[in-house]
Amino acid sequence: MTAETVSADPATKPSRLDAIFKRQKAAFEAERHRRLEDRKADLKKIEDMVKARGEAFAAAIDADFGRRSAAETAIAEAGFTIATAKHSRQHLERWAAPKKKPVPMTMAPGNAYVRREPKGVVGIVAPWNYPMQLALAPLVAALAAGCRVMIKPSEFTPRTGELLKEALGELFSEDHVAVIEGGPDVAEAFCALPFDHLFYTGSTHVGRLVARAAAENLTPVTLELGGKSPTVIAPDFDVAEAAKTIAWGKFLNAGQTCVAPDYVLAPRGSQQKFAEAVIEEAGRMWPDVAENGDYTAIVSEKHHARLSAMVEEAKSAGATVLQAPFDKARAGNTRIFPPTVVVDPPLEIKLMTEEIFGPVLPVLGHDGMSEAARFVNERDRPLALYVYSKNKQTARRFLARTISGGAAVNTPMLHLSVEDLPFGGVGASGQGAYHGEYGFLTFTHERAVFETPAWHPSRLIAPPYGKVFEFFKKLQTG
Ligand code: NAD
Repeated sequence: MTAETVSADPATKPSRLDAIFKRQKAAFEAERHRRLEDRKADLKKIEDMVKARGEAFAAAIDADFGRRSAAETAIAEAGFTIATAKHSRQHLERWAAPKKKPVPMTMAPGNAYVRREPKGVVGIVAPWNYPMQLALAPLVAALAAGCRVMIKPSEFTPRTGELLKEALGELFSEDHVAVIEGGPDVAEAFCALPFDHLFYTGSTHVGRLVARAAAENLTPVTLELGGKSPTVIAPDFDVAEAAKTIAWGKFLNAGQTCVAPDYVLAPRGSQQKFAEAVIEEAGRMWPDVAENGDYTAIVSEKHHARLSAMVEEAKSAGATVLQAPFDKARAGNTRIFPPTVVVDPPLEIKLMTEEIFGPVLPVLGHDGMSEAARFVNERDRPLALYVYSKNKQTARRFLARTISGGAAVNTPMLHLSVEDLPFGGVGASGQGAYHGEYGFLTFTHERAVFETPAWHPSRLIAPPYGKVFEFFKKLQTG
């Protein structure tokens, strides 16, 4: 049976969604505790599918973006998904095992433990920027936990969405995994379903709507949102050296990465040197972006126009704009946006008030790490934060003064590839986390159990209260 597409007819959408949801619910009731062997087989099927269809996914994502580096798709989508599925398979027995807890003397004798049980039927809403990884990695976590899953891919990457539907439809019955294609109207109806958990990745604006819809059903949510991830260079770190990895992190996927460095705070006076080094580094990694198959395009005309308008606004405001050489005529692709660095933009313009989500990097000067921390703390809590320093203590002190979903020192983004670290935001950049055991727990209900023998001394702590009660009270309060 193949996974189902929901009809474009508005009158039928909610009822068809509802029908799939009910079938999944019934299937879950019939198999509340999917055997670990079966879950591992589910994950292995995903691994094998991604290996077999790697090129097809690369082609679909390339077509959706207008150009997507096949190498970046191989590591950041397919490779990432395979690694996460394998890791979950290898650790599943340990994650799923009941966790024994100590019993206080006043409650003895007895056994206390936590049963890790699947939550039930869960929804996953995925964005377009890594359309394979951000649909399949949460799916892996949900299947590892033993859940039934409905996935809603982004309407901006329809070919990838279709391929996901076809590929997953071959592996799973619709009452186990269903892919629901459609735009914001379908997404809205999807988020209104009374899921046992809703996992959303996308913008902060839509995240609020999703949280509101989930609240109606008291559905727990994970919100993997975006924001402006700062990168701070300490005075002891050579800015030209920092530019090498920052350029990579910023221009990978043409900046359309949730954890890409959004802006840089460099020691005052070094902004221009840093900006020039970033452009030079970008030119080394992605020479001739017009025709370079490894330089990804912007996902839509609308997104491209937004980035152009942001840079124009910066120019009009008097900021210096440095851009990698770009021969538009040769590009034959209207959605290529060359690597761009903006030096000292005013703080009120869009570049400094909205998440950029493209290959444009503002750089501002700071007068020391305390001032840099203040700058970060005056803004929304970011998804990621990067600090560059030769001194571990300087970096750690900076982390202690700030808050972010995750962080990395002397590199951008790599924290998300360490499977055992939780990945998620805080405040405006999201809530909840996944990856590794954290992903398994996101889709797991931790059920508290206390087993007592047929006769338990607690029976003595009952009215009429007397000497035994007084003795118990003393024991309890020490
Ligand atoms: P998008 O436009 O593809 O939207 C994401 C999903 O939300 C889509 O499936 C869409 O159909 C759905 N959606 C749209 N309107 C909706 C509604 N009213 N109710 C429910 N769902 C709705 O993607 P986007 O939002 O442009 O994604 C980019 C954003 O995502 C950036 O802010 C980025 O930082 C963030 N992001 C975060 C992470 C993370 O892991 N934290 C990862 C990738 C992207």
